[in-house]
Amino acid sequence: MPAAENPTVAVMDAVFAHHGLNARYINCEVAPEALGSAVRGALAMGFIGFNCSLPHKVKVIEFLDELAPSASIIGAVNCVVIKDGRLIGENTDGKGFVESLRTVVDPAGKDLVIFGAGGAARAIAVESALAGASHITIVNTTASRGHDLVDRINANTPAEATLVHWDHTIKIPGTTEIVVNATSVGLFPDIDARLNIDANTLLPSMVVADVIPNPPRTRLLADAADRGCTTLDGMGMLVNQGRVAIKLWTGVDVDGQIMRRKLEELFA
Ligand code: NDP
Repeated sequence: MPAAENPTVAVMDAVFAHHGLNARYINCEVAPEALGSAVRGALAMGFIGFNCSLPHKVKVIEFLDELAPSASIIGAVNCVVIKDGRLIGENTDGKGFVESLRTVVDPAGKDLVIFGAGGAARAIAVESALAGASHITIVNTTASRGHDLVDRINANTPAEATLVHWDHTIKIPGTTEIVVNATSVGLFPDIDARLNIDANTLLPSMVVADVIPNPPRTRLLADAADRGCTTLDGMGMLVNQGRVAIKLWTGVDVDGQIMRRKLEELFA
């Protein structure tokens, strides 16, 4: 995709310009076999850091000097910070989610149900656990992936995690305070896709969050809003993971509203 059409580049350019930051964000396709050379290239060219996305989030770790604590538990890196010639792996997805969540509720002491056990779910579950969540139920169709995530949480965080194998329609327990869709269900163009859950078990006391940024109002969020839940869309997570990355690279706290407006323009 040409750089000008890449949403991440457009959003970063907009916020760098707004704050007068002397920085550029470029988008590069890197083949798996070239990943090590690309990382060394970024270091050689004096980059302050870079993001990496699928399929490089796990493989990139072997080319880094150190991992931030949460990235180490998550086992994946989406953001690398280059400081004093050292490559430090971070994961800003979960941090971005928690920042977004805190605009409506603090996860500390809360009971969460998270659908999914992929990269987004791992980041969200680990950061929520590190932010003080008391219990996390992971619901996933592939049981082995779910077990892996539950084991990571129980072994490395103070939270307690359990797994529900998603081979039936899920009724969300009434004691749940935060419900998160961290699967790819509902992502454009499959916007009519619904999670296999009993939507009547969503209660007004619950905060219902979705990772899907496009479209921001997913079927899940529409169903939740109809039942009086507080809802949180995936654009907030997307904006905040970018804000966290810019802060790590430059030390500057940028305005998320500029980023959100640009995203809304692009996804309209
Ligand atoms: P992964 O491929 O790592 O994981 C996908 C997850 O979705 C798995 O748990 C998978 O289950 C589950 N899943 C897929 N289809 C279904 C289905 N029909 N029913 C039930 N579960 C299903 O992807 P990521 O975790 O990296 O990304 C997931 C979503 O999160 C994407 O849509 C992505 O756009 C979004 N995302 C949003 C971000 C944001 O900032 N807003 C940041 C990062 C991701 P199983 O394990 O059984 O295969």
